[in-house]
Amino acid sequence: MTEATGIVGEFLSLKADSDADLLAMQCGDFYEFFDEDAEIVADELDLKVSQKSSHGASYPMAGVPVDDLTPYVSALVERGYRVAVADQHETADGHAREITRVVTPGTHLETTDDAAQYLAAVVGAGGDSSDPAEGADGSYGLAVADVTTGQFHVTQLDGPDARTRIQTELYKFDPAEVLPGPDLRGDDDFLDRLRERTDAALTVHTEESFAPGRARHRVRDHFGPETVDSVGIADDDAAICAAGAVLSYVEDTGVGTLASITRLQSYGATDHVNLDATTQRNLELTETMQGGTDGSLFETIDHTTTAAGARLLREWLQRPRRDRGELQRRQSCIAALTEAAMARERLCETLSDAYDLERLASKAVSDSADARDLRAVAGTLSLLETVEAIVDDDDRLADSPLADALDRLDREAAADLAAELDAALVDDPPGTVRQGGLFCRGYDEELDGVIERHEDALEWLETLPDREKERAGITHLSVDRNKTDGYYIQVGKSEADEVPESYEGIKELKNSKRFTTDDLQQKEREVFRLEEQRHELEYELFGDLRERVAQRATLLQDVGRVLAELDALASLAIHAVRNDWTRPELTDGRELDVEAGRHPVVEQTTEFVPNDLRMDGATSPPDQERASGHADADRQFLIVTGPNMSGKSTYMRQAALITLLAQVGSFVPARAATVGLVDGIYTRVGALDELAQGRSTFMVEMQELSNILHSATDDSLVILDEVGRGTATYDGISIAWAATEYLHNEVRAKTLFATHYHELTSLADHLDRVHNVHVAADESDGDVTFLRTVRDGPTDRSYGIHVADLAGVPEPVVDRSRTVLDRLREEKAIEAKGSGSSEPVQTVFDVNAGGFKRVDESETATADGGTAAEASDGGLDPETEAVVEELSELDVNETPPVELLATVQQWQEQLDDD
Ligand code: ADP
Ligand code: MG
Repeated sequence: MTEATGIVGEFLSLKADSDADLLAMQCGDFYEFFDEDAEIVADELDLKVSQKSSHGASYPMAGVPVDDLTPYVSALVERGYRVAVADQHETADGHAREITRVVTPGTHLETTDDAAQYLAAVVGAGGDSSDPAEGADGSYGLAVADVTTGQFHVTQLDGPDARTRIQTELYKFDPAEVLPGPDLRGDDDFLDRLRERTDAALTVHTEESFAPGRARHRVRDHFGPETVDSVGIADDDAAICAAGAVLSYVEDTGVGTLASITRLQSYGATDHVNLDATTQRNLELTETMQGGTDGSLFETIDHTTTAAGARLLREWLQRPRRDRGELQRRQSCIAALTEAAMARERLCETLSDAYDLERLASKAVSDSADARDLRAVAGTLSLLETVEAIVDDDDRLADSPLADALDRLDREAAADLAAELDAALVDDPPGTVRQGGLFCRGYDEELDGVIERHEDALEWLETLPDREKERAGITHLSVDRNKTDGYYIQVGKSEADEVPESYEGIKELKNSKRFTTDDLQQKEREVFRLEEQRHELEYELFGDLRERVAQRATLLQDVGRVLAELDALASLAIHAVRNDWTRPELTDGRELDVEAGRHPVVEQTTEFVPNDLRMDGATSPPDQERASGHADADRQFLIVTGPNMSGKSTYMRQAALITLLAQVGSFVPARAATVGLVDGIYTRVGALDELAQGRSTFMVEMQELSNILHSATDDSLVILDEVGRGTATYDGISIAWAATEYLHNEVRAKTLFATHYHELTSLADHLDRVHNVHVAADESDGDVTFLRTVRDGPTDRSYGIHVADLAGVPEPVVDRSRTVLDRLREEKAIEAKGSGSSEPVQTVFDVNAGGFKRVDESETATADGGTAAEASDGGLDPETEAVVEELSELDVNETPPVELLATVQQWQEQLDDD
């Protein structure tokens, strides 16, 4: 067997033992990929493939230099591959190779992305229904870790809908990698949704690691038994299983950051605002519907100067809070920062020098931090003093909760560590830790001795040419060093014969000759020995220093978190000042009262017309209000009508975003706002709007509507935008109608419902808390002007015909179209019956009975008769008849104004032809 077979054979056998997608195996100075792996890697990364022939067979081979592996592995992991790395090490008889780590999307330490990188394990226990509408019972556990920062969150959800809710929870983290528990691996519905909603890589981790006993042991072992009890998950088996699996996976991949996971953060189902994936997408929190980041809420309001600050701000937007105390604390900080302009600017300037301490902590723990990283730690820790001085110097900041956050840090420990690192490392250390030059003089006595001798020896070498020139009387003489010859004396050809006898020639070049001497050889050996000694000693000392930093991982995480928070708060303050945002009043009531509100993203690019929104909650607790029957003061369900493009969708999203920002603790785009805290925000956009973007089907729209009707509570905010639009008119109205009744009567959520089904506006007469608003448009100057102002009451229903009239469509046509429209309306006869009245009104939908009622026949007959008479009396010619027919069939609300005008113009031409 040849050596080649050996290597490829070894590669294939290591690969077979690993469940990674790709293997990079060290072969001396290179990491090589063979066989299929070589082809994949070459394809993905544009590497050259060569052929490795062995034993008659030939294998594709691609390699990268040892020092360049990291960026290649990163690129592969970012493309979703799990890459195993096998390192080579010396053994008594030659060398051996073994897999030392597996780099996966969720455990990738060298990520270049500032955003959090979450690895999640999710465990299901019990509950056999996979139909979300059924509300599967059981317990579901979720554990989520970011190995790059040491963040670790766990939660458990029990009871009805736990399955759906845990998925929503999981999506919120936008995980890079998910470890489904044994129960969920065969659950196609769960896996399909996961694939649909996230880009996460799915990894099957050993079943044992999820086993309750083993997981519990591991979690207690890692965090300490008291911690598990104190965060209240001791009895949450599902949460423990998920947590145990994550810890085990992090350990198995060999990423080496397990020790940076120092804190077990358990959170309950009621800590955060429920925001499902569809809502996150609809509200364009971090990504727009088109998939870009430009124009997202985050991109718009982000003025952070550090990666950690940006990461935290993004996290706040994705996981708004329900804890009024915490939100008010953030508000107070922002308020102080908006007022203290100078201090804020100095703070931001100071923070802009900060490095990502949370990530540096993980690097220190995993032994991957180099001297520059530790200098960054020192530099960032020492900023704390400046930050503290800035806060102390300004009374507004000093009296704000910002000061408390700083006070809670162990600033002495931070200063000590910074001082220790400062005293140890030179200002601008090299990027490698194996070649010395890292430490300052005076740090270590032994090292100082070695350095002194090393430098003395170098000094001897440096001055050697002068001494030799003088001794031998040679002018063209220099001393140099290269890899093959080591140190040598070089003499010009012309003088090469005049060198002293002690010179021993080693090489002849074209114009010169190289020599060595006993002294030089001795010195050379000394220099090499000292160099090696110095490198080893510095490497050793550096390892110790890094270890001491790693032991303070918690301190780095704490300081990093506070600096990130300052950055995020300052960013919100900056945005508030620049855009004239206001501090909302937060209440535990159910009101949403916004004066002159704006859409935070649209206002950036448009001359935005501010709008009021008034949804008032009961001043008494809901139960009492329900019992008292005085519900007419309530205005909790708004039906939003108005022509196409008038601003309905914007108005509703604005309401959702103002609520969301308020629950981030941020100021909001409005003159004044009172926001009753919500437990969830749910938005749905009708399938037609979504279909245009090739995203959705009516089935999905209905599934999502079903989810809302199941999940929303009387503390939620629901935004329905043209829901029901994805199907035939009668279907659509029926669904919209019934959903409105259900939301109003059963769910009792605060709801905004934009609809082009004008019929729904009559619901306001019958359902106590339903009110109509419309987005006004002005047609007075013969032109349609969108006023963008929201007013009470339903929109003018003959808006389209009015436009036709304005456009100069001949009177008979306009009149006729009014008649046709009336008739159509009567035919549909969707006029709700007054709730208190017993007057017989044409009704298809009976609000009270919730069913269909027979339409009064005589009235319909009248309408029919009238039509017939007019048709013959008017004596319309066929051409006009055709136009009228088209007109009657045109759905005004479905047609964009421009198209409407064009159609009208075409009719005019048709009529003129007569
Ligand atoms: P609709 O849902 O009624 O069809 P949209 O909400 O999609 O209308 O808004 C249509 C256009 O009007 C959008 O381009 C939007 O930016 C703009 N717009 C909406 N509301 C306002 C406003 N209050 N001030 C200025 N422009 C607005
Ligand atoms: Mg719209």
